[in-house]
Order: sequence, then C-alpha cells, then structure tokens
Amino acid sequence: MKQDGCGAQEFFSGHHSYTYDDLIFLPGHIHFAVDNVSLKTQLTRNIALSLPFCSSPMDTVTEEKMAIYMALLGGIGILHFNNTLERQVEMLKQVKRFENGFITDPVVLSPDHTISDIEKIKLKYHFSGVPITEKGEVGQKLLGIVTNRDIDFEPNRNRPLKEVMSENLIVGQKGLSLEEANDLLRTSKKGKLPIVDRDYNLVALVSRHDLLLNRSYPLASKNKNKQLIVGAAISTRESDHERVDALVEAGADVLVVDAAQGDSLFAYEMIDYIKNKHKDSVDIIGGYVVTMNQAENLIKKGVDGLRIGMGPGSICTTQETMAVGRAQATAVYRTASIARKHGVPVIADGGIASMSHIVKALALGASAVMMGMLLAGTEESPGEYYYKTGLRLKRYRGMASKDAMKSGGAKRYLADQETIRVAQGVSGSVIDRGALGDFIPYLAKGVCHGFQDLGYNSLAEVHQGLDKETLRMEMRTPASQKEGGIHDLYDYNKESI
Ligand code: GDP
Ligand code: 5GP
Repeated sequence: MKQDGCGAQEFFSGHHSYTYDDLIFLPGHIHFAVDNVSLKTQLTRNIALSLPFCSSPMDTVTEEKMAIYMALLGGIGILHFNNTLERQVEMLKQVKRFENGFITDPVVLSPDHTISDIEKIKLKYHFSGVPITEKGEVGQKLLGIVTNRDIDFEPNRNRPLKEVMSENLIVGQKGLSLEEANDLLRTSKKGKLPIVDRDYNLVALVSRHDLLLNRSYPLASKNKNKQLIVGAAISTRESDHERVDALVEAGADVLVVDAAQGDSLFAYEMIDYIKNKHKDSVDIIGGYVVTMNQAENLIKKGVDGLRIGMGPGSICTTQETMAVGRAQATAVYRTASIARKHGVPVIADGGIASMSHIVKALALGASAVMMGMLLAGTEESPGEYYYKTGLRLKRYRGMASKDAMKSGGAKRYLADQETIRVAQGVSGSVIDRGALGDFIPYLAKGVCHGFQDLGYNSLAEVHQGLDKETLRMEMRTPASQKEGGIHDLYDYNKESI
C-alpha cells in the first residue's frame, strides 16, 4: 500500500509546537455508514461516556443546569469552584436529584405540614410529589402522598397535608427490581411509586418522570443508581480538603484537581489526600499538563485521567504572560502517547473552536475534549443573553481574568493569597449557540462525519491507527490554511462552526 503524508511520530518529531490548525489528516477508506461511528469513550479509568464531551469548570460555563444537560446528552459537566463550598455542593446535589432510579432519600413531610411547605419544596427542588409519613421521615409508616393534583385548586395554602393528601396508594414492595417498579408505574399510570417494607414503612420512591427522561435521553451518562454523572473542580489548596469531603459525600463522580500548572507539590498533596481519604469513592483528574514528564509524574501519583492544556484557551493569556505552555496538538499527542500506555485517558482542554478541532484532538490521542468558549453561548450556561450591534451574546470570562480572580478564581493559579495578582485570562463575550439539546447532537454528528472520512469508526480504532501509523497527516502552510477556509467570496453567511 502506498503511504502518503506521514505518521504522527514523524510529524511531531521536530521541535515545533503545533496547533490543531497546523495539521490536516489525509482521508482513509470508508467502509461503514456514518451512523455506525461510535464516540463512546472513557473519561477516566472508571467513568465511561457515550460522547467525548465535557464542559469546563468555569463560572460562565458550568453550573447545575449545564451539568444536568451535558450528562443527559451523553457527556459530563464539571462544576466550577468560584463559589462557596455550600453553593458548589448544592449544585452537585441538584444534578444528582435530577434523574434517579430508586430515590432512597426522598423529600418527605408529615400530615401536619401545610400546602405552603410543599410550595417551598417545589421552589427549591422543582418537584412537588411528596410522600407523607407519620413524622415526616423516611423509614416511617406511609400515610399518603401529595402531588400537584391534590393542591392545584386549593385556595387556602395553610391547610394541613392530612386534609388534602391522597391515601389510596399503589405501592411497590421493597426488593422489587427497577424494571418491575417501572412496569408498575407504567400500568398504574401514576406519577410516583412509593416503595414500602413489610410493615408499610416508606423506604424509597420511584418517579414516572424518570421513565420519560430515560426515553428522551438514551445516551445519558448515569451511575449504577441511575443518577446523572457529574464532576467538580477543586483547587490544590489544603483549605479545599473540606470541599473535597463535602463533594464526595454529596456524590461527586470525579474531582478535577484544577491547577494552571498541574505538576506541583501542592497538586501531589491534594491527590494524596483524596486517594487516602476517599479511596475508590471518586475518580481524580489531574492537570493541566502538556509534557510527557508531567503526564508521567501525575500518572505515578495515581490519577485516573489527565487534563491537557497550558494556554490554548480562547480567553487565556498564559503563554503570552508566562512564556510557558505548549501548542495544543503537540501537547495532546505527546501526553496521550504516554498516558495510553498506562491506560489513563486524557482530556484535551482549551482551544476547541470547531468540530474539526474535536476530530483532531480525539484522533491525536485524547479520549474527550473539554469546551469553554463553544458552550458558554448556550442556553444552559450561567448568565443572561444581551444584545450588542444586533447580535445576541453572553458573557464569557477566563477563570484567571481580573474579574474572575476577584471572586475566587485565583486559587487555581496559586495567586489567591498574593497582593499583586497577574491575570492569565480575559473577559469577553460569545455568540448565542442556542439550546444544548440541539448543539451537542450537532457537534457529535459532525465529529462522526470526520471519523468516517478518516476511515475509523471508533475512538479505539483511531487510536490504533495513530499507533500503527495508518493515520496519516501533513502540515498546513499558511496558504493551505487560507485555501481550506472560505475565500474569495464577495460576502457570505458563516453558519457552521
Ligand atoms: P412532580 O410530579 O412535581 O413531583 O415532579 P416530577 O415527577 O415531574 O419530577 C420529579 C423528578 O425529581 C424526578 O426526576 C425525580 O427523580 C426527581 N426527584 C429527586 N428527588 C426527589 C424526591 O425526593 N421526590 C420527588 N418527588 N422527586 C424527586
Ligand atoms: P476554550 O474552550 O475557551 O478555548 O478554553 C477553555 C479552557 O481554558 C478551560 O477549560 C480552562 O482549561 C482554560 N481556562 C479558563 N480560564 C482561563 C484563564 O483565565 N486563563 C488560562 N490560562 N486558561 C483558562
């Protein structure tokens, strides 16, 4: 077989720092339909995802809403820590409460609570189906259930629940499987199925809403209890040990030790702390790293995943201010080639500005990409849209921008206790990208097309192609980059990314 272009090892053998735009892959042979491309991946050693997409732990990108929808759609959101411990834990709990199998700690009230107590619950948790037990606790005799339908038209909001609750209940017996519980919900046409033990004490609750979610979001990232998977970022500071404990207790699936230069004693100490205190309860992603040495060091410390990038982010000025970093294509290829040998997945973080960048990051060895800029303009990111020169925009800022550092972001740059803080990011805005429910499937489809053109139908296959050098590439000259973009038109609408 004639080999055009070159393999990755040759391409990256010089001393150049290559960005995604510096290279182009050569097409392979298509022997499968685009729908047969699988983007299933490992985010970490123990966490599998249907799609290789993560949202950045930034205060203009990932709070509970983003994390819920990223997980529902098959990726994962990493909650930022530019907030109090309580707020970050509250966000995490919201994600964990959103979808369930058996809810083993349902919110319960007593017969003497009033309709206004249900309203408070609705405001806080966004559900209103509340089982009623003797003293309002799980494990006590089930007396009834209050749902919206019991209280919709009741003008007196101070009426006690014992006067409005439904008492004729269809219940499931403790020990039944989730499938059996779901069948009961389907056939009974009820919204909630309380699960009771032999003495009729409430032990859990199953919600019909979750059946519908399951049908609408077949790719959702869930744990064995059918709760959505979510991650949280933490700093390397000792003072964040308390945060780690609280996040693990609240059910975090993965902690991202967030440091601009991840190969540090501080980071090692934090990794040790998590591993010693919470062995086997949570996965750890270490980073950022960009060199093979850094990657190897963190792998030796026992991380379950690596976050790659130093300075490629759209809002990031690290390379210009610190004179340290690496262009992202080189960083991903180099670190992933080491990590793959140890079975540690890497996440390409920063600089993802188009679908082609995602294809390139994955083909160069990443198991997932982390996105800030691309997701900051979606409806699910924090903040409101505003208009400027006719465009609908949202604010987007670097976590080491002056603005964000003032409200806590300096922790990751080890600058929170300094009187003079050097910014490594900027504040700006991004255009409206609509709902995540449209945007993520669109990105995924585009990436599948890219894989099809390359001739590989999965991440495992493309990584094999990388190792065996069947994945061929060439450098793009400035003229070839111009040729590959839109050119020589009088005007045009750029709708794709
Ligand atoms: P409701 O009819 O207003 O109670 O709400 P839905 O049934 O439409 O949605 C309830 C959603 O909240 C489901 O996805 C549940 O899994 C989730 N949920 C989480 N914790 C609880 C809880 O303690 N009680 C109830 N009722 N739902 C919960
Ligand atoms: P983007 O998707 O916008 O290109 O990059 C987002 C990534 O940039 C984030 O996931 C994070 O890794 C990184 N980042 C976020 N804020 C800052 C910052 O202020 N400075 C630097 N150097 N990197 C940042």
